[in-house]
Amino acid sequence: MADRTSVAQLIEKKKHGGALAPEEIQTFVDGLMSGSISDAQAVALMMAVWFVGMTEAETTALTLAMARSGETLDLSPLGRCVDKHSSGGVGDKTTLIAAPLAAAAGARVVKLSGRGLGHTGGTLDKLESIRGFRTDLSADEFRRAAASGLVIAGQSADLAPADKRLYALRDVTGTIDSIPLIAASIMSKKLAAGAHGIVLDVKCGRGAFMPDREGAERLARLMVRIGTDAGRAMAAAVTRMDAPLGRAIGNALEVKEAIATLRGDGPEDLTRLSVALAAKMVEMGCEGLDAERATAHVREALASGAGLAALRGMVARQGGDARCIDDPERLPAAPIRLSACAKGDGFVREIDARCIGEACLLVGAGRTRKEDAVDHAAGVMLLRQVGGKVSSGEPVAEIHAADAGAAERAVAIVAEAFVLGSAVEVGEPILAWFP
Ligand code: URA
Repeated sequence: MADRTSVAQLIEKKKHGGALAPEEIQTFVDGLMSGSISDAQAVALMMAVWFVGMTEAETTALTLAMARSGETLDLSPLGRCVDKHSSGGVGDKTTLIAAPLAAAAGARVVKLSGRGLGHTGGTLDKLESIRGFRTDLSADEFRRAAASGLVIAGQSADLAPADKRLYALRDVTGTIDSIPLIAASIMSKKLAAGAHGIVLDVKCGRGAFMPDREGAERLARLMVRIGTDAGRAMAAAVTRMDAPLGRAIGNALEVKEAIATLRGDGPEDLTRLSVALAAKMVEMGCEGLDAERATAHVREALASGAGLAALRGMVARQGGDARCIDDPERLPAAPIRLSACAKGDGFVREIDARCIGEACLLVGAGRTRKEDAVDHAAGVMLLRQVGGKVSSGEPVAEIHAADAGAAERAVAIVAEAFVLGSAVEVGEPILAWFP
């Protein structure tokens, strides 16, 4: 179907501002899957979409075609299942906190996650810093783990494979930051993963794919509409990602911070956001619970330690060393620790999340190509957050690394990421909810 002429015609049509019909989009996705569409053609269409945009109907058609391009999970025998997804941030370990809290408060949480790429981290890498933890569950293991109320696993290669091919091409051709393409990419995977309720965290700011609030809100609204039209319960929070979330950035460091947060000892921004996301998951996942009662259940799960127990249970079920949960010193630790120091006196007004993400990449905590390995122990610990007072020369962050040269280069980047000045009010982590 996807012969040279018809694909070239689709590209021409989009390039001139036309709207593609659902069957034309299906032809494109079929061609991607059969290999009859070349990388050049796929990228040409992506670039045309980047400039011209897509209507909501086109974006929905692309999402559904990509969701159907591979395996789709049927979770209906498990009853109501909820999933949670972040559009990608720096230090965003909310899944490790919100998912166990929601499970402990009564929701069945079934989450398929991805790996980090570029300056943003991924939940699978964080979990794999726990020795033995398996994210590559067989279908049977996955079903058994889901039946127990909480599972976080890697998505199989056959889940929305059309997105996999397109994302890899977008990543190297400057076409990631397009609202319809991000919406279709995220929602195709979420729809194929089968959960009834989906809570999205759309990051907004310097460390996110969506730097401005208007774009993040458009993306959130669009994803909510696509999911609702597909029959799912949907909610999306637009949340700040100018500065890293919490203090830890890097896989094992973030697991440690997630454990501390589930003990009631986490940074305030991270705790507030995790509780809010978990409450929305519980509201969706438990029939008859309103927002207020869902929030109360989540707070109770945090205070009682039930959330921490849910994390411990999941780690044990998935083969990980659950002793880490009670003794986080068992998690990997980096041999080199260097301090980045304040360049003056004052209050921390900004901490550039993208720079911190880049510093983490430099010390091996992240990957620039998806086949790269990550150093689970590496990363950055912020000793001060936005709003904190600092004196010149005082350590504001600690770099954790295996390589001294990389650590020294990261120190310079991290020190520059801190913008100092007069006192600043710290904003709420959530800017808006949709719907
Ligand atoms: N996350 C995704 O899964 N896809 C995008 O396009 C951007 C963020």
